[in-house]
Parts: sequence; C-alpha cells; structure tokens
Amino acid sequence: MILPGATLGLVGGGQLGRMFTMAARNLDYRVTVLDPDPLSPAAEFASGHLNTAYTHPVSLEEMARTCAAVTTEFENAPAEALIELARRTTVRPSGHAVAVAQDRTVEKAFFASNGFPLGPFAVIQTREDIDAALGLVKLPAVLKTARFGYDGKGQARIATREQLETTLVDWNGALCVLEEFVSLTKEISVILARAEDGKTAIFPIAENQHVNGILDITIAPARISAALAEEAEDIASRIAAKLEYVGVMAVEFFVVAGDKLLVNEIAPRPHNSGHYTIDACRTSQFEQQVRVLCALPLGDTSQHTPAVMLNLMGELWRGAANETAPDWQSVLRHPGAHLHLYGKRQARVGRKMGHVTVCDTELTTALTIAMEIKTELTTK
Ligand code: AMP
Repeated sequence: MILPGATLGLVGGGQLGRMFTMAARNLDYRVTVLDPDPLSPAAEFASGHLNTAYTHPVSLEEMARTCAAVTTEFENAPAEALIELARRTTVRPSGHAVAVAQDRTVEKAFFASNGFPLGPFAVIQTREDIDAALGLVKLPAVLKTARFGYDGKGQARIATREQLETTLVDWNGALCVLEEFVSLTKEISVILARAEDGKTAIFPIAENQHVNGILDITIAPARISAALAEEAEDIASRIAAKLEYVGVMAVEFFVVAGDKLLVNEIAPRPHNSGHYTIDACRTSQFEQQVRVLCALPLGDTSQHTPAVMLNLMGELWRGAANETAPDWQSVLRHPGAHLHLYGKRQARVGRKMGHVTVCDTELTTALTIAMEIKTELTTK
C-alpha cells in the first residue's frame, strides 16, 4: 500500500489528469506531471511538472526515481514510456494494456479473438485492400485511423467506394479500420476499477449522446433494462480480467436493434462519461484511480443522486479570439448544477473546456435543467 505523503507520477496532464491530481492532493499525495504543454491543466494542481516530451529519458529517469507509482490519463501516452518506467517503479495500468487501446487494429483483434461482440469491420490501408474490406463491411461505413484518433479526429464517414479510395489517399496510407455504420439505439459506457487482486468495482452505467463524434451529454444512470446493464457489466469485467488490467478503465458500447450490445472501444483511464461520479457517486472515478494506483481499498461506487453531465466545448466561448467565456449565471443560478472548468487559456472549436453536472432527485428534472442550461449557453 502506498500511503498519503508519497509522490505519484502522471503521464499526460490534460483535464483527466487535473481531476486525478485534485483527488490525489486531497488525500495528501504529491503529484508529478509529465507533459510537454507548459500550460498543462493538471500541472496547475501538481507539486511538480516535468515539462518535456513523454519519452524524454531524463524525465522518465526522474519520474522512476521519485514516484512511488505512476499512472496515465490519456491513451496516447507512449506505451513504451510506461513499459520503461515499469522497470523501476509501479505502473498502473501497464504499458501492455495501454498498447491494446492505443491501436484500433490491435484492439479489434483482441476483442475478436476473445469472443467479445463487435460490429462488422475490416483492417484497411491501401487501395488494394478495398475489395476485401467491402466484402466484410457494407457501406455506409466509418473509416478510423488505427492510431492517434480521439474525439472524432482521424475519422471519416464513407458513403461510396470512391470516397473510401480518396480518403485513403488523403490519409497517406495510414493503417485504418473500416467499420460498418451501425444504427444505434443508444450508446452506453461502463467505468470500472480493477485492483491487483482482481477485485472489481463498477460505477453505474452511463448513457451517452455524441455530436460530431464528440461526447455531448451523459445521463446517469443509463435508461436501460437491468438485464442489459448486467450484460454490459459482465462484458466489461471480462475485458478487464483478460487484459489483467489494474486501474480505472472505460468500455464504450453501442446498443443496436433495441437490446444487443457491441463493444466500441476501451479507454485505459477514467472517462469523460464518468465525470458525473464526482458530484453524484460516493467515490469519484478519479479518487478510485488514486485508490487503485496506491493499492488502497476500492471506494464505494454507488450513486447517491441521478445526474446529467454536459460538456462545455470551445464553441461556447465568443469574441474574435474566443476570449469571452460564457455567462456562467446560466449555470450557477441552478442550485443543483456543478460547474467544472479545466483552466484552459485558449478556447478552440472541438476543445473540451469544462463540464457541468446537474444533480437532482429526479433524473427527468436533471435532464430538463441540463437542456435549459445548454440552450442558454448556446443562444446567449
Ligand atoms: P469512437 O471515437 O470510435 O468512439 O467514435 C465516436 C462516435 O462516433 C461514437 O461514439 C459514435 O457516436 C459514432 N460512431 C463511431 N463508429 C460508429 C459506427 N461504426 N457506427 C455508428 N456510429 C459510430
């Protein structure tokens, strides 16, 4: 067990890292953030900032020497940096588990070979692969780069064979996955923590609505049957066990044809759809990440209040240089609305700047208030 007072290392310093750092600092751990961004949102709360590339040998050496345990907050943290750190200190989750989530082709192969339910897909790279891919996947489809895609980046909707050909050329022969476009009844995610001894704690399932491939709203608990929830929890737990995963992870699912589950992808870290846990659960996903990293007992994941989370995107900022923040009165006048801002100095379209969680004893009321806030923020 790593006790309060120790120093924890964090590879990546974005908003997920910021919320991890706040939870860790609250328990009196020190946190060293490794992030090349001098304005890292996590570094604001950290006790140390190694402001270099993720693979910088001097930073990795310093982190290994000074940190009792190291975790990560985004899946593009180089797996090799985590594997290198694991020679010298405790790393959770392992670089090997992160590597599976980092590459969509590896991730799909892992799901397929272990019998987890997937929609039709094909691995594709060049024009020569098109015939074989279209033998497996019907159009319309979604083309996704194998690596470095997030929040809808590295993705294109494909309606025709010609479009597939031009997109592959435009993407300079990047390795890709072509997925059949499935008709979604709903999207849900399961966030869980798995400890070293295999003990697993699962948060209430989140129901997610996306706009342009980016999470817009999370409704928790998800409005699904108990049977579907149980099946999703079972699949997510088996994925974590197969990966010998230690840490907090998210499994995103598509619900199709009413009540059939397909695994979309995993995230080897806390997840945007789990932000509601900060205000609505007995333990937040970030405190849970601290607990599992330090081998402390897992916290209670039960939800005390229904909640709706709304992402605050850069589009909401106004002015020539997006320098004017929204009128926060629209949020703050609701006593059940909790405002979280990530301290990002520059608002850009598609950039996650913060979120609001609306809590209410009735989920339908939380949803109505969240919609009211969204309308006010977008029209004022
Ligand atoms: P991803 O980054 O792969 O999770 O994709 C982002 C979002 O795009 C998903 O949450 C869905 O809303 C949508 N999407 C991605 N792939 C598909 C698909 N094969 N069929 C339908 N919608 C999809």
